[in-house]
Amino acid sequence: MSELRWTPVADGVRTAVLPEASMNVVVVSDNGEALVIDPGATPDRGRTMRAEVRAAGEVVLGVIITHPHWDHVFGLAAFRNVPSYAHTATIDELARAGTRQVDDLRERGFVLPEGFAVPIPTVPVAAPTTIRVGRREVRLDPVGHAHSVGDLVIHIDGVSIVGDLVEVGAPPQLRDADLAGWTAALDHLAETAGPVIIPGHGAVSDHAELDRHRAMFHAALAYRAGTGPIPDGLDLSQLPH
Ligand SMILES: [Zn+2]
Repeated sequence: MSELRWTPVADGVRTAVLPEASMNVVVVSDNGEALVIDPGATPDRGRTMRAEVRAAGEVVLGVIITHPHWDHVFGLAAFRNVPSYAHTATIDELARAGTRQVDDLRERGFVLPEGFAVPIPTVPVAAPTTIRVGRREVRLDPVGHAHSVGDLVIHIDGVSIVGDLVEVGAPPQLRDADLAGWTAALDHLAETAGPVIIPGHGAVSDHAELDRHRAMFHAALAYRAGTGPIPDGLDLSQLPH
């Protein structure tokens, strides 16, 4: 009996909404092998995931982390025996300041195990890289400082998993963001993303959602440059500088 409700998105691509922060975990699989993308917020959640992939008759080949925010990362603690891929800057950021996120969470009453150590992804991705799951190619595209210091986008056939570069049903989170970098990343995605977009939070969507984000971010850049009105949908006071 599955604890999570998995929704098929495309052939060999399924997603589930996790209770913590309503984050979308994604599993891509083929021929008895699987990759887990963003394994959730706690070691327990990671373990659930691992068990459910195994119960589906699949072997976990590795984990991919879209960016260094706790809700996407801390479940990686349950996958220390397989390679885990992330943008180079994400790995640096977790090593440098991951414990700050642990402290923040505990202050907010979130329960993490005693002695919890921030899991650090093991394989830095500094340039576009292709890995395999079963007979399928999975393309990893490190887009750089956008929503976070190191966002990584994953493409498999017609599906693009974009982390928090796109959020559906909630405004974009700008606390660690680079506005120009995020705008450039969205422009790049408009050229490179498949027709199906899986956001970090919210419903599976398409290029209409991507275009809505692009319009918002271009409007924010224009406002910043003094050539446009205050943009709708973005709280620029969140920006780090
Ligand atoms: Zn995030």
